[in-house]
Amino acid sequence: MFYQKVKRNVQCNICPHECILHEGKVGVCGVRRNLGGKIRCLNYGLVSSVGFDPIEKKPLYHFYPGKEIFSIGSMGCNLSCNFCQNWEISQNCQVENLGGNKYEIKELIAKAKSNPNNIGIAFTYNEPTVGFEFVKDVASKAQKEGLKTVMVSNGYINQKPLESLIEVIDAFNIDLKAFTESFYVEMSGGQLAPVLESLKIINKHKRHLEITFLVIPNKNDSVEIFKEMVSWICNELGENTVLHLSRYFPRYKQNQPFTSNEKLIELFNVAKERLNFVYIGNAPELDKSNTLCLHCNTVLIKRERYNTMVNYNWELKTCPECNKPVEL
Ligand code: SF4
Repeated sequence: MFYQKVKRNVQCNICPHECILHEGKVGVCGVRRNLGGKIRCLNYGLVSSVGFDPIEKKPLYHFYPGKEIFSIGSMGCNLSCNFCQNWEISQNCQVENLGGNKYEIKELIAKAKSNPNNIGIAFTYNEPTVGFEFVKDVASKAQKEGLKTVMVSNGYINQKPLESLIEVIDAFNIDLKAFTESFYVEMSGGQLAPVLESLKIINKHKRHLEITFLVIPNKNDSVEIFKEMVSWICNELGENTVLHLSRYFPRYKQNQPFTSNEKLIELFNVAKERLNFVYIGNAPELDKSNTLCLHCNTVLIKRERYNTMVNYNWELKTCPECNKPVEL
């Protein structure tokens, strides 16, 4: 889906790379190929990892807390982050031998429905965008079966395919990797502007949206630029937008030390000046993963690793202690 003929070649219009492919060539993502004048998605139905995860692990903190989500990963990615935490499945795809196991859609749906604590299916681990057709097919079938659908993505996708996915996806976690174009160009092989556009589109369509920001020392942790990013989120998406700050660990081609507690706390305090719901991930000792009432500081959702206790009235959307409204 989403390609056009350009003279003797075809152009893939799934993401902003807009790859123009000669016969047999594969796009930047490593999994979409021109075969016979059509784009074929080589990873269709191929699953690299699969299993039940706590929904908090996506991370999604305000979407069915305490539940599990059946998580599916494939292979390939349209960005090439040199700090990728899942590079084994996202980078260096071998076109003739992608690996993974073949799954039928009905098999995945049946597995998802076999666990009573499971709410649905999440497309995660690698970049779901590059397997657009499979995600769309599985998600639309899952929704018809009463399952919720989640996409964990870099947000590097064109408007039309994104709007097509929004029809079948209930909740998104989007990685906002930095707030400078230079970071996206140098560290990720992409651009910032399309990611910001995706965030606005998801928000406009009122899908559940949470954002993850991986804090990489000396790369994207400037307080001044972070302040600009937080202002943009607040102004464009709203003060209730959930922001997850995540500790970086050395991976793939990056080897500088992991993010310090001091830096995480510094950015947390900056973000809290404008946003109501900010969390720190990969740092349980900092105890910044609970959801507090905005009025009386009562703990509404307590999270200890992946144990979650909910103390919130979802129907009335109020704090059970002060009875004031809190929109989660
Ligand atoms: S999805 Fe892949 S082939 Fe299509 S434009 Fe993006 S990188 Fe290129």
